[in-house]
Amino acid sequence: MNRTINQIILSKAPEVRHGGKDLSRFSLMHPQKLYLRPCLAFVIALSLLFAASAASAATDPYAVAKPLRGRQSASTAVASDRYFEFHSGFWINMHLFLLEEALTRKAGRDTGREAEFTNDSSISATLSGNEKTNWDAAVAYYQQNLIGLDLVANDRMRIIKNTLENFEDQASLRLSHLDPRLVRVLNSAAPVYRAHWWTAHDRANRAWIAAVSPLVDSDGDSLTQKIATAYETTWPDSPVRVDVVAYANDSGAFTSLLPTRIVISSMDPGNQKLAAEEALFHEGSHALIEKAGNLLLSDFAVHRKKAPPELLHAILYFSAGYFMKELHPDYIPYAKANGLWQQPAWKGFHEAIVKDWQPHLEGQASLSEAVSRLVSDVIASRN
Ligand SMILES: [Zn+2]
Repeated sequence: MNRTINQIILSKAPEVRHGGKDLSRFSLMHPQKLYLRPCLAFVIALSLLFAASAASAATDPYAVAKPLRGRQSASTAVASDRYFEFHSGFWINMHLFLLEEALTRKAGRDTGREAEFTNDSSISATLSGNEKTNWDAAVAYYQQNLIGLDLVANDRMRIIKNTLENFEDQASLRLSHLDPRLVRVLNSAAPVYRAHWWTAHDRANRAWIAAVSPLVDSDGDSLTQKIATAYETTWPDSPVRVDVVAYANDSGAFTSLLPTRIVISSMDPGNQKLAAEEALFHEGSHALIEKAGNLLLSDFAVHRKKAPPELLHAILYFSAGYFMKELHPDYIPYAKANGLWQQPAWKGFHEAIVKDWQPHLEGQASLSEAVSRLVSDVIASRN
């Protein structure tokens, strides 16, 4: 789960946070996973969203909704259902693995990532000759140019991500319109990644998709209807593209908007079994919170208070987890399982959400009534 759109709606701040922690790509490289949600929620305030969209559209033909939708074809999807279209793309997988390599080497230490990364990273230490030259050049490019940039909030990173997703079935990035230096290092690194990592990563991605698809088939109608009702909106008309990757970010998943696209790690231990399903629907719900976010902002403004940056994200966690538990009574929602409610930044959230938001999920209060009561109680709990 990622941050962002939620966060920016609430805080109007450009930094990315998740679960109360700084979620910028680099600062997440530390062992605080218990507080991280398998997603890096990104929620960008509408004004920022539209501004970014317009800017992106002016500079990159793949950053706008229409061409992207056109390329979301079943021919390149691993699997597709009514709600999600799953992909296992070569370029986006290599891109995010290179980012992980660059961050890890820069940190010069064990970054607390999952064991799979330790194994994957050890392979790069055995490279030699041209393979080593080309791979190291790519890692160096990432260290010098990309690792300090937020995966979602930064326009360049979002354009790179969307373009590499779109080019999943292309042998070369020559026609991609990306920075020629980036294209050069990626084209040179591609044979190395394909020879040493891609087979295992693609296999993990496809296994993850095969495991989660039956859950989406059985629960998707119920979850999308309940989530959309909770936010008084509708689920997207067409399936949301999900790029399944070996490495997403430290929180295991993130979502970009306009168009809504999810990136989720198949190897992150927090994204397995029923938690994979919660992660998917949590990520998808990031695209539905405009009305709730605006109500929160308005109600805090009435009280002349600043909205806590993570409150809307806490609502997302609670709601997706609540609906999951309705369908699977033994399931422990991610936020509870991973101690999110105990974070200092989430002080008072759980009590207020249970008291004021849960009745709304049960149909006993409107969205505006629930938000109004929630805002009052959160403010009271923090005084
Ligand atoms: Zn999230």
